[in-house]
Amino acid sequence: MNVLADYHTHSRYSRWYHAKHNVDQMTAEAKRLGLKQIAITDHGPKHTMFGIKSKNIDKAKSDCLRATKKYNMPVFFGIEANIIGGDGTIDLTAEQLSKLDILLMGYHKGTKCDFIKYFDKKNRNTPEQILKNTNAYVNAINKYNINIITHLNEYIKVDTKLVAKAAKARGTIIELNAKHLKLTDTDVKILLDSGVDFVVSSDAHSKNRIADVQNCLDFIVKHNIPIDRVKNIDNLAGFTKK
Ligand SMILES: [Zn+2]
Ligand SMILES: [Zn+2]
Repeated sequence: MNVLADYHTHSRYSRWYHAKHNVDQMTAEAKRLGLKQIAITDHGPKHTMFGIKSKNIDKAKSDCLRATKKYNMPVFFGIEANIIGGDGTIDLTAEQLSKLDILLMGYHKGTKCDFIKYFDKKNRNTPEQILKNTNAYVNAINKYNINIITHLNEYIKVDTKLVAKAAKARGTIIELNAKHLKLTDTDVKILLDSGVDFVVSSDAHSKNRIADVQNCLDFIVKHNIPIDRVKNIDNLAGFTKK
């Protein structure tokens, strides 16, 4: 299995030195590793601790363009947006969205969200809460052109079947995240049956972890996930700019 791209990495644009290296350093390493593409996807601006500053969005985009030319490989400018509203709202404006090459979306506990009180542990996984989470995800998938859902079922749970159905209908890819691989056997079966596609991601916060996805590769073998449904292994036919 050849990993040809890493679509989920963080750079110095995530605040508080959350990630170690800049776009140039990340790209140089991706090139050295033999990747054909990389995406730089810092946290959305409403992440309380680590979100990219809105004023840095243009800078990050031009860094990606510069690196694309310098290293002669596509460096997609993306954001790992935060879901913040039960109606599916994420933490990017229409103008910010128009600047992206790739849009990732996930739930992060460091972000204020109107449909869940994350730190209310007792109610975090009630059926009512899972339904609210599910509706928020489905609404977001329908509302935005989300390329990849990051670390599904990490932090908060959804009804995997309903989210997978919406994702399949909209061409949204489900990520196998090397740092947060929380999908259960049942989840994987549901995802496979739904027809949805996958990517493997490092979620690297330093250049040393780019394409470090061995546990995802083992997971793919263990669960018999067909390689042609994993859109950054052995072929790159799956990712198109939306
Ligand atoms: Zn994340
Ligand atoms: Zn991330």
